[in-house]
Amino acid sequence: MSDCLFCKIARGEIPANVAYEDDEMLAFHDINPVSPLHVLLIPKKHIASLLDLSRDDEALAGRMLARAGELARRLGYGQNGARFVFNAGRDGGQTVGHLHLHILGGRAHGWPPG
Ligand code: AMP
Ligand code: ZN
Repeated sequence: MSDCLFCKIARGEIPANVAYEDDEMLAFHDINPVSPLHVLLIPKKHIASLLDLSRDDEALAGRMLARAGELARRLGYGQNGARFVFNAGRDGGQTVGHLHLHILGGRAHGWPPG
């Protein structure tokens, strides 16, 4: 989508601190980190949220989860663990309308979330 912030990042039109990239997804450091590690993993394809994920996208979604775990391990969080979060829609606290997986590490994350 032409006016979507994360589509612009995926196209390289807005700079980001990239942690991982392949043909179909991109991970970059959050501009406003809430944890020592705060990376966002997005599909390059515009999908508005997890609530908009179709069956056609389920293989992509599975690869995103696998890459997220690999990335967290590669960045050194395999031992202590990490928090993986999809916010979706208004009540989910989503502020950017392009599917993204938050990967948070480097501190203990409480439950329930706020
Ligand atoms: P959410 O609230 O789940 O929609 O998360 C959106 C995230 O995108 C927030 O954590 C923001 O800090 C982050 N964010 C917004 N703009 C940028 C940007 N230009 N580069 C990196 N992260 C961003
Ligand atoms: Zn988008």
